[in-house]
Amino acid sequence: MTIRTVGIIGAGTMGNGIAQSCAGIGLDVVMVDISDLAVRQGMAAIAGSLDRLVRKEKIREAEKAASLARILGTTAYADLSQVDIVIEAVAEDFDLKVRILREIDSIVRPEAIVASNTSSVSITKLAAVMSHADRFIGMHFFNPVPMMALVEVIRGLQTSDATHAAVDALAKELGKYPITVKNGPGFVVNRILCPMINEAFCVLGEGVASPEEIDEGMKLGCNYPIGPLALADMIGLDTMLAVMEVFYAEFADPKYRPAMLLREMVAAGYLGRKAGRGVYAYSK
Ligand code: NAD
Repeated sequence: MTIRTVGIIGAGTMGNGIAQSCAGIGLDVVMVDISDLAVRQGMAAIAGSLDRLVRKEKIREAEKAASLARILGTTAYADLSQVDIVIEAVAEDFDLKVRILREIDSIVRPEAIVASNTSSVSITKLAAVMSHADRFIGMHFFNPVPMMALVEVIRGLQTSDATHAAVDALAKELGKYPITVKNGPGFVVNRILCPMINEAFCVLGEGVASPEEIDEGMKLGCNYPIGPLALADMIGLDTMLAVMEVFYAEFADPKYRPAMLLREMVAAGYLGRKAGRGVYAYSK
């Protein structure tokens, strides 16, 4: 199946980034959000991002205009009736995602593929909501979408080979590097990254080294561009704790137990950059 038109649900951080990337390779995009304001904000974010690319001479003004012209921003799910694929990118809330998937199930063409950009919800569970579970798949982009090369393509238990092949091809067409992943908590990247960050909090909590020494150690010793504690501050300590709680519950394995210091810091409201204080202090 060749994909020419893409529907995106959610015009937020990820949705507008995916829309920009798709329009940038000449696909027609329908981007849906709940309010006119959210749609306008999503379109403005795309225009701003394209402006930056024009200033950096990565694209020409005409290409910016052509990309914007290919994106229809709307609040009507009915506008998804003719698309080849829908990519769901609404907030990380299982009940919300299920409600939206049920709603679009009867709107999209029966042969359309439906994908979710979820970071943690089971693709198998979401597929079970759809009439055509074989045409449901995970397409996990990374933030910021136009800059980040990786896409995790997650196969639920029901996902067909044809659906997988079409989505893998789309990711490559977008200039991304897709990796195929079997459904499971955290997929590949977060499954490895989050326990590593959690361990950094264990090391800090035991007083093995200072935050700066832990971060410098991982940067200089492993060639990481940023230390695990500084990265946790960027992600948000509450998000980190939530992910570890999911791993701990789903795998029922003590190796995923959230670090006590991480729990303490979240309880204290030290949530990272967004709170002005996490492992490090930030001036607002
Ligand atoms: P966000 O809060 O920036 O955007 C979510 C958008 O969904 C908002 O614009 C909201 O108005 C819209 N929305 C809510 N209910 C809706 C509805 N009923 N119909 C249509 N739109 C609706 O969130 P985000 O950061 O873009 O995350 C979206 C998804 O992508 C989540 O599942 C998240 O886990 C995943 N994800 C996020 C990141 C990241 O770094 N932000 C990275 C990878 C994956």
